[in-house]
Amino acid sequence: MAISRDEVLVWIKTCAAVLAENCAYLVELDAAIGDADHGANMDRGFRAVMDKMSGIADQDIGTILKTVGMTLVSTVGGAGGPLYGTFFLQAGMKTVGKMEMNLDEWTAALGAAVDGVIARGKAEPGDKTMVDALSPAVNALRQASLANGTLAQALKDSAQAAKIGMEATIPMVARKGRASYLGERSAGHQDPGATSSYLLLKTAAEVWVKD
Ligand code: ADP
Ligand code: MG
Repeated sequence: MAISRDEVLVWIKTCAAVLAENCAYLVELDAAIGDADHGANMDRGFRAVMDKMSGIADQDIGTILKTVGMTLVSTVGGAGGPLYGTFFLQAGMKTVGKMEMNLDEWTAALGAAVDGVIARGKAEPGDKTMVDALSPAVNALRQASLANGTLAQALKDSAQAAKIGMEATIPMVARKGRASYLGERSAGHQDPGATSSYLLLKTAAEVWVKD
């Protein structure tokens, strides 16, 4: 089983819809420990991505993901824009010329995406950022890939790992990004970026798993 180019397009489109639906929720999370713009940032970025998609729908997965990354970099400010821009650009670099991805290829793409976020933002697990949802998701994929698990189960496992990682940010004290300015007062709130990362991976599992 593999993820086709068209399924990647469906994922991106569904992410745009899911982020639009969750705009107010992400704004509310960011209002508690940041500047109340994360939902609007992601929604604006993915609306711009949607405007680009029809023009590149016949391209390979790498071109599509790189276009998503470049569009997010150029339309979303703050921390989230460059970080998610890097995420999609790096995933795109790993999938150049591919018209489909198997589990190992998706694992490599997501691994590069998350390494890119870490290299750019210098956050470690436990710093209360998107990395707390993304790193466990990649680890779950790697485990499934090593164990020769099915793509469907691996996608479900990675979404579940991202959910647990997102929820684990609630008690954390932020050490990176705007929320770190609050120090101890950042504890008790779920990180907005970890939440949007979970939504992207949950959507991947939902649209790519057929059963
Ligand atoms: P800003 O903080 O500039 O307003 P957003 O609100 O769009 O940008 O995004 C905030 C999210 O970005 C945080 O919830 C956190 O998950 C993520 N973030 C901030 N700084 C970093 C970093 N250095 N590394 C990884 N993620 C980060
Ligand atoms: Mg913000």
